[in-house]
Amino acid sequence: MFDRFRSRLELSGWLTAETAFRIGAGRSTEVVGTDLPVVRDALGRPYIPGSSFKGVLRSRLESLVRAVSNNRKVVCNPAESEEWCITAQDMQEFKERVREVDARQRDEVLTERIISESCLLCLTFGSPWLASKVLVRDLLVDESLWFGQFQIRDGVAIDRDTETAAEGKLYDYEVVPAGTRFGVRLLMENGEPWQWGMLFIGLKEFEHGYVPIGGSKSRGLGWVRLNWEERKLFLLDGEEGEARLEKLIRFLDGEGFEDVGDQMVRTWIEAFKKKLAKAAGQVMV
Ligand SMILES: [Zn+2]
Repeated sequence: MFDRFRSRLELSGWLTAETAFRIGAGRSTEVVGTDLPVVRDALGRPYIPGSSFKGVLRSRLESLVRAVSNNRKVVCNPAESEEWCITAQDMQEFKERVREVDARQRDEVLTERIISESCLLCLTFGSPWLASKVLVRDLLVDESLWFGQFQIRDGVAIDRDTETAAEGKLYDYEVVPAGTRFGVRLLMENGEPWQWGMLFIGLKEFEHGYVPIGGSKSRGLGWVRLNWEERKLFLLDGEEGEARLEKLIRFLDGEGFEDVGDQMVRTWIEAFKKKLAKAAGQVMV
């Protein structure tokens, strides 16, 4: 890959549970305690795996983009290998074709091909052939508000044959209570304006509290709301020579970022709309 560092978008804030939620850790094998515990960090506190948050964000954006175009070159289905924007067979063909290219340029030509054939979601969140530009840290609980207040709820096991409550088959499950909050830290490296716009559209759904996380959503669990604390962007583009090196060194010290204001976000969302319209238009003709 010929990736050169160009920019980093850094977002941080809080995700607050508005209802109880549960991200299950699987069935407990403990004799005492709950049948279905939630995931815990090494210190026994609840947390939200960064991969879970990113997965919910991606699938939310997939369904939004699918409302405009269902073509796999615009938004593919990562759950079905036959419906990926670049299938394993496509990849095989690309590789065979680049054999004709001069050996020194093969990787570059292949990379360009992958980028031009990937859907908008894979270009941003990664695919089997492309690294993700979005990194989400594990969301750790706000320690100032957490004192071990897990809650246990009763569930009723459903008999799969009769679809009625199976008599005597009670189980309990653990939840993290409403009001618990978690630190969010999200990075996008080397994104383009349309990708920042897409990211903010997806995150807006969390800001408005429209996206539930975790399991047992039918029981009303999982409603969360996102609030920003800091949104900042570091851009290396536009600088040359010594000034560029100077800026890079400041970046390594955590300096040289600019605050991301609402106007910038609006411009990026416009860039995303244009990109989506273009991508959807290209595959229609
Ligand atoms: Zn894709």
